[in-house]
Amino acid sequence: MKETKSAPKKAVISKNEEDKAMLSPSTVNLKEALHKYFGFEGFKDEQEAIIQTLMNGDDTFVIMPTGGGKSLCYQLPALIKEGTAIIISPLIALMKNQVDAIRSLGSDKVAHFLNSSLNKTEITAVKQDITDGKTKLLYIAPETLKKDETIDFLKSINISFVAVDEAHCISEWGHDFRPEYRRIKAMIKEIKDVPVMALTATATPKVQQDIQKNLQMLDATVFKSSFNRDNLYYEVRSKGKKGEAMKDIVSYIKQRMNNKSGIIYCLSRKKVEEIASILQANGIKALPYHAGLDAKMRADHQDKFLMEDADVIVATIAFGMGIDKPDVRFVIHYDIPKSIEGYYQETGRAGRDGLDGKCVMYYNPADAEKLEKFLKDKPVAEREIGELLIFEMQAFAETSACRRKFLLNYFGEEYNDNKCNDRCDNCKHPKEKMDAKTEAVLALQTINSTKSKQILKVTVDMIIGKKSHEVQLGGLDKSPYFGKGKDKEENFWKSVLRSLLLNGQVTKNIETYGLLSVSEKGDEFILNPTTFEVALDTKFERFTDDDDDGGNVEMVYDEELFAMLKDLCKKEAKAKNLPPYIIFQETSLQEMAFKYPITLDELSKISGVNPGKATKYGKPFLAVIEKYVKENEIERTEDVVIKSVVNKSAKKVVIITNIDKKIALADIARSQNMKMDELLSEIENIVYSGTKLSLKKYVNDLADEENIGYVMDFFRETNENVVEAAMSEFGDEFTKDDLHLMHIHFVSEMAN
Ligand SMILES: [Zn+2]
Repeated sequence: MKETKSAPKKAVISKNEEDKAMLSPSTVNLKEALHKYFGFEGFKDEQEAIIQTLMNGDDTFVIMPTGGGKSLCYQLPALIKEGTAIIISPLIALMKNQVDAIRSLGSDKVAHFLNSSLNKTEITAVKQDITDGKTKLLYIAPETLKKDETIDFLKSINISFVAVDEAHCISEWGHDFRPEYRRIKAMIKEIKDVPVMALTATATPKVQQDIQKNLQMLDATVFKSSFNRDNLYYEVRSKGKKGEAMKDIVSYIKQRMNNKSGIIYCLSRKKVEEIASILQANGIKALPYHAGLDAKMRADHQDKFLMEDADVIVATIAFGMGIDKPDVRFVIHYDIPKSIEGYYQETGRAGRDGLDGKCVMYYNPADAEKLEKFLKDKPVAEREIGELLIFEMQAFAETSACRRKFLLNYFGEEYNDNKCNDRCDNCKHPKEKMDAKTEAVLALQTINSTKSKQILKVTVDMIIGKKSHEVQLGGLDKSPYFGKGKDKEENFWKSVLRSLLLNGQVTKNIETYGLLSVSEKGDEFILNPTTFEVALDTKFERFTDDDDDGGNVEMVYDEELFAMLKDLCKKEAKAKNLPPYIIFQETSLQEMAFKYPITLDELSKISGVNPGKATKYGKPFLAVIEKYVKENEIERTEDVVIKSVVNKSAKKVVIITNIDKKIALADIARSQNMKMDELLSEIENIVYSGTKLSLKKYVNDLADEENIGYVMDFFRETNENVVEAAMSEFGDEFTKDDLHLMHIHFVSEMAN
């Protein structure tokens, strides 16, 4: 290791004027070059020191949060130095953006990329420009670099240096590991041993170590900027029962973020579609973004977000790479992210302009279990890493300590501002703290007794005397510390250990999947214990959400009102000679008894009720509800009347449009790869959720008007198992599918 420059955390050169003078005789030139090429007057933070180090021919490792001006660190020296700089970058979309940006400063030939999107002629042209010495930056994907023909070509040209962007892709501990990245150093060596600059925006100490080892740049000069984003506010909320988080999100956006830009992240495409349509139904300009949409639509939605034709993007993690919208005011995580790196990067897209950014995460412990289940079939190492990352994420969600401190600690950065200016929920609404001096000592002694061979979970099991599998395996139930803290519960000990970690009395060994050991500071604490304040971790209620298809929001409704509405429904049905479910389905009545709609507009926001139906049948119901609300002095939360929607999957949309076009049902079924009864059930769902479909043509094809009339009359009089009942009555003349279709037609005509 080089002495002064390889400080593990923050390099000192830029801070030290003497060093600077010594290291960079050409400081002035760099500034001039910056102005000449980019038009900027001065460098940001450590950019100049970073560039100077590379200019001196040294390996450089840059850890800088997104938005900190990372790419300039290799772009400027590439333009100045003789030869072509090779920029290894994982994403084709990112490359294109960068190349476009550089070209906008000068000639088109100055920057190129080489990846699988180019054809032979284009590749030849790129190579010609490079050979002619016109190209200063060549962006290249590791998959392309790997090819023999690429390596042969690169051997023949003059290379100034190699920059490895998004270098965390090297490490399995990051969130987007790319196996090809592991071979980069070998490939560079084969070409020419030039200086290497590695850059990343997400580096825990473990990832940093991995990158340096793998790129064989352990003696590189490390520049690590602070990861603190002090304009961001961090908050974790309980996800609540099904539908509650959604309600919370709608009212949050409508009341506090109206017309402001925001991103909502969730883990599945299905959830993305569902949330986007619920937001749209509630008058919020939202669009979905996920890998299942075709490229054109994705680009379109992204543009609309950038141009502010859409306020909210609902996305899987695929969204946001290379997007630099400065005024994103909120980032919501509907699901717990898979790692703190991912969380940090995604929340980091808020408040790029330095103004307020709110980061809200909804947490349900069951979601973390679900994530762990996904890991079940992965190779052991990958699974263990994945589990540890999720465990850290859970610790972040449950902590009662400052969230900023927790995040920065995770990235190996010390943060000791007492209350982070109230820029997190835990600092703003601090939980009661207790002195846990004695318990902290016991926890430290327990860790020492394990000879630092146990992870947090097992240590807690041991203290509370739980004979878990791991405890028995390690023979820990024989230890004198086993069960010594059984008078306090698991959550208490978890909180104590996590506080000890946050405060540095305990360290976690990342190489060995999180084994705990007592630090020097901790040993000192055992000898001279001082006050040790702990706030208990927040216990989040666990909600199972097995049938996660949205639409039917499970709710606690007003049973008294529901009974009244149900009676009314029967009465109305009788008067109109229709079965009650045609007027309103029970689920709609329950929702009315939950949301207390008193206007037609509010009523039409109840699921299964469209404006037509509200007008047709709604008035007496509204009268009953209004009277009930007045008599019982019920406070209605009007702004939180949320319209839940049918999950409008692409399939549903196709079915609806095909029916509008009167395409034969058999053809629709075939094109959708469905059996006829499956198609009919799907059509039934569509109709029951309040969409009117014109099925008359199909029904008329089945029989003459008179016979259809008989069946319709039968439907009017039957309230339960209608199709089965109709089968025993008309089974000779019609098939079950026919009768099913006729019943759907009946419902569509009468109910919607
Ligand atoms: Zn805080």
